[in-house]
This record gives sequence, C-alpha cells and structure tokens, in this order.
Amino acid sequence: MKAAICYELGAPLQVEEIDLARTGKGQVKVRVAATAVCHSDVHDIKGELPGPRPFVPGHESAGYVAETGDGVTSVKVGDPVVVSLMKSCGECYYCLTGMPHLCDKMMVPPEVPVMCTKAGQPLVAKGNIGGFAESVLVDKSQVVKVPAEMPLDRACLLACGVSTGFGGVVNRAKVRPFNSVVVIGTGGVGINAIQGAAYTGASPVIAVDVLDKKLETARVFGASHTVNAKSSDAAEQVRRLTAGRGADFVFVTVGSVAAIKQGLTMAGKRGQVVIIGLPPAKDTLAFSPLELIPTERTLTGGFMGSANLRIDIPRLVDLYRSGHLKLDELITARYPLAKINEAIESTERGDALRNVIVF
Ligand SMILES: [Zn+2]
Ligand SMILES: [Zn+2]
Repeated sequence: MKAAICYELGAPLQVEEIDLARTGKGQVKVRVAATAVCHSDVHDIKGELPGPRPFVPGHESAGYVAETGDGVTSVKVGDPVVVSLMKSCGECYYCLTGMPHLCDKMMVPPEVPVMCTKAGQPLVAKGNIGGFAESVLVDKSQVVKVPAEMPLDRACLLACGVSTGFGGVVNRAKVRPFNSVVVIGTGGVGINAIQGAAYTGASPVIAVDVLDKKLETARVFGASHTVNAKSSDAAEQVRRLTAGRGADFVFVTVGSVAAIKQGLTMAGKRGQVVIIGLPPAKDTLAFSPLELIPTERTLTGGFMGSANLRIDIPRLVDLYRSGHLKLDELITARYPLAKINEAIESTERGDALRNVIVF
C-alpha cells in the first residue's frame, strides 16, 4: 500500500510503498476513500508542532472497514466510516463523565507501530491515523459508521474541520439564540464555526478576515455581517454591530496570538473568547489580567469541537442530509495521492477551504 511520508520538515512528502501492521485486538483496519488536508497537517510538515519523524500525516479521513480485530463490535467489514484522531479509552475520568475528547489516552500511540517503511523503519501515524495512506489501522474508538448514502469525500470533513468549528460553537461554548458571535478567520474551521453559529440562531454572526473574497464566502455559510480587519478597525466595527457592548462569544480560528489579542478586545462584558486555531507551539501571548477582571471576560480553548464522536458525527450527517450543514461547498479541489504536495501547497497559501485527497 502507498502512503505519503514526511522525512524532512518543510520538504515535499514522499509517496512510497509501506507496510501496515496486523490488525490487533480492539483495532480496525480501514481502506481509505478520502482524507482532507487540514492546516494542522501543514503545521506538522513545517515542524511547527512537536513530534518525532518520519511520519505519515493526515487525520481527517473516511473509508471502508477492511478488517476488525478481536473485541470490535461497533463496526463490521464493509461499513463506511469516518476516522477521527479522537481516540478514547472509555475508562478514564473524562470518558466516564461524558468528555471523551479530553480522554487521558487520546495521544497515546499503539504498543506496536502501525506503519513502517519497506526497509522496516517505523513511521509515526499522525493523529494515530496517518490518513494520507491507502489504508490505516486505528483504535475502534476512532471510527464511526455513517450511512451508505453519505459520500465519503464529504464525510471525511466531519472528522476534524467541521467538528472543530461547528462543535466549538455548539458543544464547547453552547451558544444560544440571539447571542452575538464573532468568528475571526474564515478558513476551513472558521467557516464551520459560522455555520454552527447560524444554526443555533445566534445574531449577529460577524465574520472577520482580511480578504474580501473569503468574507463573501462567509455570508454563504451564514454570516450576517462581515468585517475586513485590514481596511477597518475590526474591534470598533464589532462594537458598532453589537450596540456598543462587544460580542458575547468570539471564536479565534486562525493560529495566531495577534488574533487572540484582537479577539479579547472584541468581547463584551462576560464575553467568552474561545481559541480554536492552533498557533505555532513556540508562540506565547502576553496580556494584562485587567482585560479580564472588571469585564468578567473568559479566555478559553476548544479542542476538536468537544465532540463525542458516536453522538456528534451522526448528528452532523443528519444536518448535511437535511440541508442544514453545507459540506459540498467546503471542498475546493480533489487530488490523487500522487499530487498530495500540490494539495498541501494550496492549503498553505490559504487558497482552499478544504482540499481532499481521494483514493
Ligand atoms: Zn485537523
Ligand atoms: Zn478515556
């Protein structure tokens, strides 16, 4: 089977034949149908997030179950599934209290490396998936069955970008009707935060970006107002659109500490600023605690849309099928694995909402 490997940070991925381990207890082998390119993949490949090499990136996948190990009852061979990095043990405090996205075992790699080169060198499967590969071997908690009618190039988007944006608004922040919402950044995650805010009945839903073209797209996904942060004082515009108060919720979906600082200035009293986009690991943020105390603002993070996969993926599939969640419009282009470096370059340039590798 073929996979795209990152041997050297910042260099193009190498597509080559690799070996997949035998399907062990509690594991599921999936023949990949589609894996989307996420900005976190770009961060990984450029070395902006920590982790050993060589590795196979890709964590936004969907495919068909090819093999199940002992103890797997939730899916069977042939089932179409979404594959997520959200591995959960079902036994830790967070799993038992309904927060499997915070599972203590989430990032723990399997005991036996699941991928290795033909020369026998172990490969890290990023996100415990390694989705830029023809097949993957994952924990049973990472797969969720979807209906046969669900197109898998769209289903894969639910594994990360859509869940993170939509779930950040709905699950993490629990936005209510008539809450005012600002979304900073209208890329693959931001646009889904906008969809989530519009779906909950938030008003206004204000999209902030620096490119007018992206702001036009934000309107298609449910933004009621748009602010170009380059051509105007964005915080001032947000206050004007929220009766002078500032927003109830600000979602920062771009991986930049400057955007987080800007987000703080946009939140009103008791406003919540939720950091969703991953900044480079070396970046730090300085701000005065006085920005939080007299206003009772909250600054927090949101991870993977606080999703509970077995509950949230079927809900998102239902929303898509009933026309309440746009997925078709999220896909900018489809690429074969052989052209993965073109797909990644386009994502890095910010040209795409989502590029999808199809197998
Ligand atoms: Zn991702
Ligand atoms: Zn757990």
